[in-house]
Amino acid sequence: MKYTGVNNMVRFIKDHGIETVITELAQYLEHDFKRWEEFDKTPRYASHSKGGVIELMPTSDGQQFGFKYVNGHPGNYKKDLQTVIAFGVLSEVETGYPILFSEMTIATALRTAAMSALVAKYLAKEGSKTMAMIGNGCQAEFQAHAFRALLGIDELRLYDIDKSVSEKMVKNLETHGFNMSICNSSQEAVKRADIITTCTADKKNATILSDNMVGAGVHINAIGGDCPGKTELHADILSRAKVFVEYEEQSRIEGEIQQMPEDFEVTELWQIFSGEKQGRALESDITVFDSVGFAVEDFSILRYLNDKIDSTDYYEELDLFGTLDDSRNLFGLLT
Ligand code: NAD
Repeated sequence: MKYTGVNNMVRFIKDHGIETVITELAQYLEHDFKRWEEFDKTPRYASHSKGGVIELMPTSDGQQFGFKYVNGHPGNYKKDLQTVIAFGVLSEVETGYPILFSEMTIATALRTAAMSALVAKYLAKEGSKTMAMIGNGCQAEFQAHAFRALLGIDELRLYDIDKSVSEKMVKNLETHGFNMSICNSSQEAVKRADIITTCTADKKNATILSDNMVGAGVHINAIGGDCPGKTELHADILSRAKVFVEYEEQSRIEGEIQQMPEDFEVTELWQIFSGEKQGRALESDITVFDSVGFAVEDFSILRYLNDKIDSTDYYEELDLFGTLDDSRNLFGLLT
């Protein structure tokens, strides 16, 4: 079985270029969402505790099976630990044998960013140039690269309650050709923004965006609200917007729309990717991608990695299970 840890993942991304990886990955995501019917789908298993959540995200297309283990602990930074860490496995359905075991902390940031930008390609108004980014932690630079790779957006207006985190983002990207400004409030950040990305971590219903901050024509990429009791947008924004979700059953539990009545209308992304439903109809529409992260996105990146690293040195062989001389003699390994 192939094993790709953090070092090999970093090497793979650096060698290929992050925007190339995101662009290729977006094609896998689009392809997989277009064949939505082929996937087993279930809301993820979530084990909640006071400090956060641990989740398992499985799916299969009948040929391959994938799952991800991921946590979300907003207070971890106080212990110098990351909010989100993850790993995942891809298996062959025919034999049940795992073929890839991968780190997925970086992979999650990549697939979340690629998905956000892919969705914005369908939903943001033509000629969008400027993005406000509220919450500049671990996901933020990946989002910035994805929006430039897929939409050509390089003007970023940053805001984080901790200014040193915005400064970290500027430092990380200063040689990458972005035009970035650090703002003193989220109100200042959203001024003149065509797209607003909210990417904050807090285990509560927060109002990162209030209704008066969102003008006509804006596309909102809401990433941070992804658990029961954890949202970022005021419900009034959702009421006057067109809202798009990955998988409705899971998003009703975890997404911004947990604030809305059960019959509140949403569109699943596969429907717009396949052309079955319309995305933005008018330049003045407010569109919201209520992102929570769904198992098919993790499946797509595992599938992408498995294809790309095959017969390369971006993985090691892992002896997670033995090779037996006699397939019915497990005990023979001990003798
Ligand atoms: P992080 O802890 O590295 O960064 C979060 C940042 O938000 C911090 O810098 C914090 O200071 C800032 N913040 C908190 N409250 C704020 C506020 N009111 N205004 C402005 N900034 C604020 O976390 P991360 O790894 O970047 O993840 C961010 C969020 O995205 C988390 O909630 C995580 O669960 C979620 N997430 C979602 C997906 C998805 O698929 N939708 C994928 C990965 C992560």
